[in-house]
Amino acid sequence: MLIDLRSDTVTKPSAEMREAMAQANVGDDVYGEDPTINALEERVAVLFGKEAGLFTPTGSMANQLGIRLLVNPGEELLAEEDAHIVRAELGAGAAHGGITTRTWYANRGLLDAQAPLKMARPNAGPYLVSTKAIAVEDTHNFGGGTVQDIGQIAALHAGAQELGLALHLDGARIWNAHIATGTPLVEYGKYFETISVCLSKGLGAPIGSVLISTAEQIQRARVWRKRLGGGMRQVGILGAAGHFALDNNIARLGEDHQKAKILAEQIHNALPSAVDPKHVQSNIVGLNLAESHLTAADLAAAAKKSGVLIGALGPRYARLVTHLDVTIEQAREAAEIISTIVRER
Ligand SMILES: *Cc1c(COP(=O)(O)O)cnc(C)c1O
Repeated sequence: MLIDLRSDTVTKPSAEMREAMAQANVGDDVYGEDPTINALEERVAVLFGKEAGLFTPTGSMANQLGIRLLVNPGEELLAEEDAHIVRAELGAGAAHGGITTRTWYANRGLLDAQAPLKMARPNAGPYLVSTKAIAVEDTHNFGGGTVQDIGQIAALHAGAQELGLALHLDGARIWNAHIATGTPLVEYGKYFETISVCLSKGLGAPIGSVLISTAEQIQRARVWRKRLGGGMRQVGILGAAGHFALDNNIARLGEDHQKAKILAEQIHNALPSAVDPKHVQSNIVGLNLAESHLTAADLAAAAKKSGVLIGALGPRYARLVTHLDVTIEQAREAAEIISTIVRER
């Protein structure tokens, strides 16, 4: 059987989750009449101490709605240069929202609050672009699943308040950050105007994200979601999977982090420059192959022959992601297979 470490999006709904979906109480959500979705939106909002939530089909849509609430056409969003919002949403902020973006560089995506604060130009007048919001990603995907320091987030919040800027959190994997650090979810809720969270990554739901904010902002987001074609009908079928994921799959993320450590430690032993296990804090292991003779594509092809799927995200950058459909035993097996390949070349 293949061990699929390409992403935590590859999980399939369990029999129990499918049973919950089959039993879901549903209604027409465009009329606001789907009880399962209404409860899910409120539930996620309450988890983070926010007033309201909005279910979206994807994390990209939740991010885009979030930044659209904070930044008007022709205004500016600041984001880290490897942020999902910048690199992996196909220019949606510009294409749909007319939002311009400037980026800062951060080693492994780790937030230094001063970097965006120094770049920010709020109220730039009639000739220059005005900064309106700053986006933070936690955990940081392309940074290698790195976890943001809550002190830096608090400092960013304080600085942004002074400048009159809003903060958006791309919390696709905020659940992993929460489990890795023990930071309460409500703590994140304090610092960000808008937060997007994914149910379809580590939590194992097949589809779905939630955007949370104030009731007033979510009302606006509901209009924009419909405008983008994201108004859905008996979507409680998916909402039930979300409830199941929240009930069962948050605490267990610690196991995914343990599997990532196993992979990182063993691959480090075979090729020390590939990864520093100390830097692996959640469920993502980024492999830097700069000092190997292998390209990421070579490694992925060789691993596939031995039954392990990994992501080749750059010429010399490969990514392994652990999740609930990979056992600890399989993580050990994959670690052995990948270590053997990098050692042999
Ligand atoms: C996966 C992901 C998203 C959302 O992705 P979708 O595929 O649109 O659901 C957003 N941000 C980050 C950091 C992600 O990893």
